[in-house]
Amino acid sequence: MIDIKSLFDYEIEELLLNNGFQKFRAKQVVSWLKKGVESFDMMTNIPKNLIEFLNDNCYISVAKIERKLVSKIDDTVKYLFSFADNECVESVVMKYHHGYSICISTQVGCKMGCTFCATGKSGYSRNLTASEMLAQIESAQNDLSVRISNIVLMGMGEPLDNYDNVVRFLKLVSSENSLNIGMRHITLSTCGIVPKIYELADLKLQLTLSVSLHAPDDEVRSSTMPINNVYNISELLKACRYYIDKTNRRISFEYALIDSVNDTAECANMLADKLKSMLCHVNLIPVNSVKGTGYVKSKIERQQSFVDILSKNGITATIRRTLGSDINASCGQLKRNHKEGGI
Ligand code: SAH
Ligand code: SF4
Repeated sequence: MIDIKSLFDYEIEELLLNNGFQKFRAKQVVSWLKKGVESFDMMTNIPKNLIEFLNDNCYISVAKIERKLVSKIDDTVKYLFSFADNECVESVVMKYHHGYSICISTQVGCKMGCTFCATGKSGYSRNLTASEMLAQIESAQNDLSVRISNIVLMGMGEPLDNYDNVVRFLKLVSSENSLNIGMRHITLSTCGIVPKIYELADLKLQLTLSVSLHAPDDEVRSSTMPINNVYNISELLKACRYYIDKTNRRISFEYALIDSVNDTAECANMLADKLKSMLCHVNLIPVNSVKGTGYVKSKIERQQSFVDILSKNGITATIRRTLGSDINASCGQLKRNHKEGGI
């Protein structure tokens, strides 16, 4: 069966032309898909034989709401969505002064095994298709009756480990015939799959690349992020510099502050040294404690002195505001609780 919502308009046109339908029918189908119909039978202005063809050969991806949690503190909404095969992923919608932002998943689970991450702990099932990434946004928009203007690929999964589907998604979501969300409103977060950073850089998309660094030296980073054994920090930062050169975009580095693991003054100085003269910003996040990891977030004074050391060395850094802290927290946890029958 063909995943029709993962196709570009010209591919839908080709599909219909190759099967004896007229070109203008493709435009009609595309416009129904844009309206968010969940079944071909709802396409009321197309002939019966085309509906039959679509039903026999294609399907429309839908993200069904399994669970929904709304924060009482700040209106952040967290969804657990399921797809046709009953696999589930999480998405989070956050309200900022400039509009709504959604954090979507790119895989069911993740292979990367970072020790602090709930998703990493739950293993990997499969990649999401481009349409399944779109469906998370459409479902949330419909449910909340709002227009989402920003996307972050920071939910479950490693986007660059699902490179082809993610790039397809990026092109689809930013096109006029889809949700029309510009690349400058999209952030892609990666744990550092170096060859794919080069590939992405060469596409020169105007999105923001966010790199999960989380440690200033290879010893600490390898102990929390296994990918560092494949691509170490110096290779990663070289790829980041290439990315900046190619795109002229500022990179943002994610750094989860973990008590006594990576939050010392020595770590801050080492980090400042490695990022010197790079077009970048550091996002410091007090680590979310995930059951079974034993990690605790850094004390407030440590967080502040970490920022101060970076700033003194000319590196802009902010401590990220935590949204939705009552509905918890980093992606992967809702699904875990759901599986364990918790919530
Ligand atoms: N796989 C990608 C994107 C998904 S993870 C990546 O790793 O970048 C999204 C972000 O959440 C990453 O920066 C990741 O390092 C961070 N993260 C995961 N678990 C966390 C935790 N327990 N506390 C704080 N940040 C966490
Ligand atoms: Fe995967 Fe990102 Fe979690 Fe690491 S932090 S296990 S790469 S989702």
